[in-house]
Amino acid sequence: MAKQEDDFKRVISHAKEYGYVFQSSEIYDGLSAVYDYAQNGVELKKNIREYWWRAMVQLNDNIVGLDAAIFMHPTTWKASGHVDAFSDPLIDNKDSKKRYRADVLVEDYVAKIEGKIEKEVTKAAKRFGNTFDKQQFLATNQRVVEYQERATTILKRLGKSLENEDLADVKKLIEELEIACPMSGSKNWTDVKQFNLMFGTKLGASADTAIDLYLRPETAQGIFVNFLNVQKTSRMKIPFGVAQTGKAFRNEIVARQFIFRMREFEQMEMQFFIKPGTQKEWYEKWKENRMKWHLSLGLGEENYRFHDHEKLAHYADAATDIEFRFPFGFKELEGIHSRTDFDLSKHQEFSGKKLQYFDTDENKNYVPYVVETSIGLDRMFLAIFSNSLKEEELENGTTRTVLKIPAVLAPTKAAVFPLIKRDGLPELAHEIIDDLKWDFNVLYDQKDAVGRRYRRQDANGTPFCITVDHQSLEDKTVTIRHRDTMEQQRVAITDLKAIIFKEVDMKNWLIKM
Ligand code: ATP
Repeated sequence: MAKQEDDFKRVISHAKEYGYVFQSSEIYDGLSAVYDYAQNGVELKKNIREYWWRAMVQLNDNIVGLDAAIFMHPTTWKASGHVDAFSDPLIDNKDSKKRYRADVLVEDYVAKIEGKIEKEVTKAAKRFGNTFDKQQFLATNQRVVEYQERATTILKRLGKSLENEDLADVKKLIEELEIACPMSGSKNWTDVKQFNLMFGTKLGASADTAIDLYLRPETAQGIFVNFLNVQKTSRMKIPFGVAQTGKAFRNEIVARQFIFRMREFEQMEMQFFIKPGTQKEWYEKWKENRMKWHLSLGLGEENYRFHDHEKLAHYADAATDIEFRFPFGFKELEGIHSRTDFDLSKHQEFSGKKLQYFDTDENKNYVPYVVETSIGLDRMFLAIFSNSLKEEELENGTTRTVLKIPAVLAPTKAAVFPLIKRDGLPELAHEIIDDLKWDFNVLYDQKDAVGRRYRRQDANGTPFCITVDHQSLEDKTVTIRHRDTMEQQRVAITDLKAIIFKEVDMKNWLIKM
């Protein structure tokens, strides 16, 4: 646990030191769970968004984009169920006065059991060596089977109580499991209450005419209310999808995990409209497709897993999370939900406008079903950033800090250095930059010894360093150094663009999907 905490602290401080993420309004001591993206962070975020957008919109001729407003008519949120049901069960500890999500306290308890299972697996893998069969071990080891049964029983009971809105039983479960406040160790809990997560605001100049609005808690509803507009103007035929990225706002109760859980964050969502009855097939297809997208970035297959929901949201007939191994354990990165015709039917009912599709093949009207993929851009940022930050032991006994962000997403693609600050080397370095900057983000650095400049760019996540020396003036060649392997090559200046392009071109990454 202590190591996990240390690793996570290192991630947060590195993100600040290298200009990725700052606390919002830091000079006023910050605003809880609100963050700003700095010079490098904004580029990484933009590149992730672009990587998603290309995979969704550009590469699928049946998916189009949308950018709906953050403010929406207030009835939207009545129709969607957010006014009545978008709440988290919260519980307070009477001694520490700290507030928690009751379901998260129980899930964290279960995560500890899962941690014990992982430990047993690691121990057994060591003991049995090459002959180790993980599946068999999980199915037959008495202790592991008991742990698993216990975890499943607890989660089932939690799911059932939440579904039945039996908050008294959620409290009872917390007491039975003897869960203590992580801050104080106290087990003195209040009752569990529901807390709505939407931020309210007002539209209009005078107090009596102002309308109550909400800041959208998800981008999806902007897609649903525009369903017919998009379908008609794009002349899309079912099945088709609408993709959107944008800000969402939630008044989160527990907000202590850096950019994992923010009060203002960005989502990348896609609603796929389908014929009723085909939802199972599309749900499976999108599960597979989204996992392939994640794996194309090469962060390691072992860091992802599906977590199918026991407790389904009011709108879903199937749901899963793609979980990622964050520094604090496996947690949700993306949700994939089969939303039935819930949203469109509700908007039809509340607006009194028909939201139906005329299927020319079937010669009939129907309200389409929807499969949704929904990923948090900030969580994706954290997944990449935390996974990429490494301390490496080098052959000469020293260590280096390196941020191995997939080159395609790196904020700066190359840094160009003159070996020394005179003899025309800076001028040639600038000439190289003037040529490369049309295609890539590149930067110039002439301070300190070249070795230190390499280290700085390693920690910054820059995949290439290009050094201009005296030989460069004579034969127009330079040294290019690769961040991950630290390999250096002598190459012609005229070849630089192609070398970099091969590593950072989105096509070469997305094609792996
Ligand atoms: P959680 O259970 O972690 O609160 P959720 O199930 O409420 O998440 P969804 O409503 O499915 O999340 O939202 C889709 C995605 O939006 C999530 O998978 C996550 O990546 C992102 N997301 C949701 N809430 C936040 C938040 N407060 N901060 C950052 N990202 C978020």
